[in-house]
Amino acid sequence: MDATGDCDLTYLLGRDYVQGRMQDGKTQPLTMNFKICNVNLEKVKEYIRANPEQFPCLKGDAGVIEKAPRLSMGGYIDLLKRAIAEKRVSFLREDVLFFETNTKGELIVNTTRVLDVDPTDPVDLTRAEILGRRQAMELFQLLKKEVGGFEDAILEYTGPFIGVRSSRQIVGKHTFSAQDVLNGTEFPDTVAYGGYPIDIHCPDGLAKEEEREARFTSGKVYRIPLSCMYGEVRNLITVGRCISATFEAQAAIRVSPIAGAIGHAGGVAASVCASSGTDIQDVDIQVVKDILREQDAYMESSF
Ligand SMILES: Cc1cc2nc3c(=O)[nH]c(=O)nc-3n(C[C@H](O)[C@H](O)[C@H](O)COP(=O)(O)OP(=O)(O)OC[C@H]3O[C@@H](n4cnc5c(N)ncnc54)[C@H](O)[C@@H]3O)c2cc1C
Repeated sequence: MDATGDCDLTYLLGRDYVQGRMQDGKTQPLTMNFKICNVNLEKVKEYIRANPEQFPCLKGDAGVIEKAPRLSMGGYIDLLKRAIAEKRVSFLREDVLFFETNTKGELIVNTTRVLDVDPTDPVDLTRAEILGRRQAMELFQLLKKEVGGFEDAILEYTGPFIGVRSSRQIVGKHTFSAQDVLNGTEFPDTVAYGGYPIDIHCPDGLAKEEEREARFTSGKVYRIPLSCMYGEVRNLITVGRCISATFEAQAAIRVSPIAGAIGHAGGVAASVCASSGTDIQDVDIQVVKDILREQDAYMESSF
């Protein structure tokens, strides 16, 4: 089993893999997350209520922030636009995105963007980590100086590693596609499900308007088949964000809960192969599904 995120085993075996978007091989930008504390979230919410147009994800309804147990928000679009134009931040991004943690006044900021990186090249990755930490400091200073509620914020830490959204992926028996996401294609060997939309952080920095809209058109359940998890290498099962998928479809299945569901399914399939002495392409898919259901994996009742 290969759960390396980069399908290292396929690469080391010298077998075919793909990386990045089709036209130029560019992957999604890398992001250095950082954690801050001592944020006055009441003040942050006051600003959001007064300026909902700065937070497009609210779609004009700032009332949703009262219902959410924790504040997850993307916005401050004019502030960021101005800071980019004045070169006070050195990266391109549409909005400042942060997530409140379980600790009062603490946020994880997921906003920096390092472009044009090959995440499988250690030298490039090191360069990206240096740039990512620099960008994090720029943004932290901007928030502290210009955003209500962040005046007394303290930078706790930047991530131990820069975050990679996409890198190498296997070429599987089936390549999961944007159509499979949007149409919820049914497969006889569906073993995992997802509900996260196609969320492409644009490899060019700023997404075009139509691309931004496109990534929010999904929202339904889609079905992920086992045949995306293996290709020509006998009994090599690959799970997580590096399964066989187009650039667009990978941008949906890459998130933690879905990567976890894929890992669960791949692991169960591997155990059934091992105990029954079958190769992965011949595994009894009903047995795999039954075990997944027994282990409380989400499975549609008709499967
Ligand atoms: C900045 C950023 C923000 C994100 N935000 C969210 C979010 O808010 N919600 C969400 O659900 N998802 C989010 N994601 C996506 C999600 O975190 C990842 O896509 C997901 O963790 C991928 O899971 P994975 O198991 O495929 O790979 P990983 O989580 O990368 O796990 C791969 C593991 O394999 C290990 N490994 C690699 N090579 C080897 C080797 N040769 N030998 C042994 N071990 C090895 C690695 O150390 C790592 O622990 C975010 C991603 C990024 C980059």
